[in-house]
Amino acid sequence: MFRIGCHISSAGGYLAMAKRAEALGANTFAFFTRNPRGGSAKPIEETDIAAFHAECARAGIDRLVAHAPYTLNPCAAKANVAEFARMAFSDDLQRMEHTPGQFYNFHPGSHVGQGIDAGIEKIAALLNEVLFPDMTTTVLLETMAGKGSEVGGRFEELRAIIDRVELTEHIGVCLDTCHIWDAGYDIAGDLDGVLSEFDRVIGLERLHAVHLNNSLNPCHKDRHAKLLDGCIPPEALVRVTRHPALAELPFILETPNDDAGYAQEIAWLRAAQN
Ligand code: FE
Ligand code: FE
Ligand code: ZN
Repeated sequence: MFRIGCHISSAGGYLAMAKRAEALGANTFAFFTRNPRGGSAKPIEETDIAAFHAECARAGIDRLVAHAPYTLNPCAAKANVAEFARMAFSDDLQRMEHTPGQFYNFHPGSHVGQGIDAGIEKIAALLNEVLFPDMTTTVLLETMAGKGSEVGGRFEELRAIIDRVELTEHIGVCLDTCHIWDAGYDIAGDLDGVLSEFDRVIGLERLHAVHLNNSLNPCHKDRHAKLLDGCIPPEALVRVTRHPALAELPFILETPNDDAGYAQEIAWLRAAQN
């Protein structure tokens, strides 16, 4: 089954998200677990969750790819930023258990001058603090563009984090096409080569979701573009969605679109599957 969706606002609660996703033609979606730039999360209402599960079953939505807030930096140097990361990550993983068996995606973070190796150690240490044995969520490290001091611009860096995690069965990866293109992986010219590199370094069995975005400029800028509007040829993005190794994964659009734009891109990708 082709799973395609986009980012949905979580402001109206869970049921509203499922309805919105279905209205856009999506059968998977992403959402921020709390304000993407900030702090506290709204309490989860049991009646909302129950209605959400019924709506998802009816609409054929079976994959959620939650996104941690951007302000969550797992390898922060400042104590208060590190403390927020620990608190928010841990709280989010508890909240995710209301929707069992889904994905929680996060940015490995920026080492802000501490160096890649110190960053990797801090990210792994945080994961070892917040993961718990009977959790049902799979936590996904996102592949990054390598902007500034971002960790995760190379597959080897994600592998180094995974190697340091104790509850490794709860860890996977989310591949962002804009980010890896910006990081120098040629998904347009050599998709097979990039995926075999991913398999060699990390293992394709760790890959659980794809953020499908075009890129405004190469070179580590991390500026997302609409599918038809960036420097990755659109047919190369279609090839990503049709690659046999990725067939079962949820594809999430994080393109700069309003709802009408998302619905159009979803319909365009569905039509391109045949
Ligand atoms: Fe992201
Ligand atoms: Fe992304
Ligand atoms: Zn991005």
